[in-house]
Amino acid sequence: MTEAGRHKGFSTPFAPEDADLSRCVHCGLCLQSCPTYIELGLETESPRGRLYLMKGISKGRIEPTAGVLAHLDLCLQCRNCEAVCPSGVPFGRIMEDARADTVAAHHAPFSWRVRIFFLRAFILRPWLLRTLVSILRIVDRSGLRALGSRVPLTGLRNLFCLLPQVRGRPFKKTGVLATPEATPQRRVAFFSGCVMPLLHGRVHEATIRVLARNGCWVVAPPEQTCCGALFSHSGDRATAVKLAKRNLDAFVADEFDVVIVNSAGCGAALKEYPHLFHDDPNYSEKAQRFSALVRDISEFLVELDPLSSAEAITATVTYQDSCHLGHAQGVREQPRQLLRSIPGVQFVEMDNADRCCGSAGIYNLTQPEMSGQLLEGKIRAVKETDADIIATSNPGCILQLETGLRRERLRGRVMHVVELLDEAYSR
Ligand code: SF4
Ligand code: SF4
Repeated sequence: MTEAGRHKGFSTPFAPEDADLSRCVHCGLCLQSCPTYIELGLETESPRGRLYLMKGISKGRIEPTAGVLAHLDLCLQCRNCEAVCPSGVPFGRIMEDARADTVAAHHAPFSWRVRIFFLRAFILRPWLLRTLVSILRIVDRSGLRALGSRVPLTGLRNLFCLLPQVRGRPFKKTGVLATPEATPQRRVAFFSGCVMPLLHGRVHEATIRVLARNGCWVVAPPEQTCCGALFSHSGDRATAVKLAKRNLDAFVADEFDVVIVNSAGCGAALKEYPHLFHDDPNYSEKAQRFSALVRDISEFLVELDPLSSAEAITATVTYQDSCHLGHAQGVREQPRQLLRSIPGVQFVEMDNADRCCGSAGIYNLTQPEMSGQLLEGKIRAVKETDADIIATSNPGCILQLETGLRRERLRGRVMHVVELLDEAYSR
């Protein structure tokens, strides 16, 4: 916590790295890439405006009232601005630091504290998350979801549309998951995550099959845990650091060549572990070694030159860039390359494929109005492609796009890129 601003009767809760903040030259080139600015046209809801507010707060010129912090809260942390900024402003890091400092200085508004309470309650207690997913499974199997998504009351219908759909049985596997007969191409450590094995077990199964098919030896270290991304984004750095330490201890680097992730959000968090430990002598080097090995599944497969699938999938496919894959990790071409490599696939780009769909972790729950507006635009762009399948690379995007299809009562499947590849391999 800085002392600046005390003379004005308030304390400033945070001080993001001055060097980071000072990189902004106010050119405004990021504005037309910012989803909240595009929707609202307000400077306060733009990257430049938010940087101005954060700088003002850190210098004690602007009081961090709940109203001011609300502008930071409406940010999706999609990092589209970061990807286009010619000055290299690390917006994602600045925003995460600002939120973490605000929480650590006990300046967080009530809504932020409630969010952290629920995140800790569910993510740190796997049995509670499992119970929730079991309830969702019952909703699916009993036909309640189908019924609910047709009721004439818009509010109730939207609520049912928002309920995540469970894909496949929970993925509980740990230890060695695939052993090729020949010398393995690569020794892979698989990162499983917290929500994904429960909600999207089918995507994990597909990932393991695709890796095995491409001659990899695969192990899932049993002590691994949540990557901590949702906590970092919400300002709960203490929990994010605790989880990151558990992961760094669980993955022993000399046993494998690469760490594979199939969730864009987790992948970005794992690659950015060194930032969490830059001043921790015990974990700093470990974090750097670990992060250097992390690869998204599509990034890895393209490096490996994957087997081509023998059978065709005759479908029109479009691709939604997951923000934390495209903007945060710079992985844009590889998923497209994999999709185009599947025989029979007619690949069509949608307009603004790299614009956030409004999922953004738990943003669809905390900012339902803006999230809904962004989803509407996304579904309009999907409709124009006439695609049968929307492929993407993140569980949150899958859930959000499925919600959009259900709301509009559209046909079409939302699939992870690796699921589609697996389907082509297995036909
Ligand atoms: S963040 Fe980058 S692109 Fe946006 S105004 Fe600042 S310097 Fe320009
Ligand atoms: S992270 Fe996304 S929503 Fe936030 S300011 Fe940048 S572009 Fe806008």
